[in-house]
Amino acid sequence: AKERGKNNYQYYNSTLQNVSTRKMELEVGLRKALAKEHFEVFYQPQYRLDTREICGVEALLRWKHPKLGMISPADFIPLAEETGLIVPIGRWVLRKVCEQHKLWKDAGLGAVPVAVNVSVRQIQDLGFVDDVKQALRDFKLDPADLELEITESIMQNIEFSRIVLNKLKELGVKIAIDDFGKGYSSLSYLKYLPIDKIKIDKSFVDDILDSTLNGSIAKAIIEMSHTMNFSVIAEGIEEEVQLAFLLNNFCELGQGYLLSKPLDVKGVTELIK
Ligand code: C2E
Ligand code: CA
Ligand code: CA
Ligand code: CA
Repeated sequence: AKERGKNNYQYYNSTLQNVSTRKMELEVGLRKALAKEHFEVFYQPQYRLDTREICGVEALLRWKHPKLGMISPADFIPLAEETGLIVPIGRWVLRKVCEQHKLWKDAGLGAVPVAVNVSVRQIQDLGFVDDVKQALRDFKLDPADLELEITESIMQNIEFSRIVLNKLKELGVKIAIDDFGKGYSSLSYLKYLPIDKIKIDKSFVDDILDSTLNGSIAKAIIEMSHTMNFSVIAEGIEEEVQLAFLLNNFCELGQGYLLSKPLDVKGVTELIK
């Protein structure tokens, strides 16, 4: 029994080692990717649901791995957050997006507002507000054309988040709460923070019709958002029936594969010209 116990221990140990080796490889890879700018930003259009006019784009990061091809953010953002690499990566995304917005504007295209995903780690970084200020200045971006998408996880450190968000608000950028309804139970923070927009999480949109509960939750979020003077956008719309439900319940904005998948720069340029 002792023998087996020992083997088990060794097995356990080497499994752990494999996991951490894989993680380390990924981390080294991410650092390299950042240095070599092996990233690409895709943009998913956002629409006014009643007229189906484009009203913005959400920047979504991809890792262009020289061997593995395009890697989804779901596969590397968590590690980037864990290691803190999300701070320089997020700064790169922000600057890239502001630069792209300027290119569209300079080309005389209908440059639409851009939304950028921001991790809680970035909000907690003491240089973040300055990074945003700098990017706005360097690329002459109207602050009102920049929206920052943050998740409910910033409530973990609400006092500090409030200070940062208020500074961002002072700059004139917009703040959206992403994946709303997924993460946090208390709603009281909504009046405590300078919020412009609520994004209804895809999970409530998914079976908005089959499940009366998800439909009710979506309706409640829309109503509450309007009461609090937030605009509201639904994410992950894949079917006409979902769009119809949202429209019937006065949700003004939406995005999802039904309307458009995330596009590369060329795709967006075609769309807005
Ligand atoms: P998210 O912010 O909730 O972004 C929405 C995700 O849903 C995107 O996945 C988008 O491609 C996908 N999506 C959009 N419409 C539909 C639809 O109709 N059906 C389905 N099934 N999916 C749809 P993506 O691009 O893989 O991004 C995953 C997550 O990675 C994002 O979720 C966001 O949390 C994170 N992420 C992406 N880019 C960045 C970034 O630059 N910084 C940070 N911190 N996080 C990022
Ligand atoms: Ca988002
Ligand atoms: Ca989202
Ligand atoms: Ca989501």
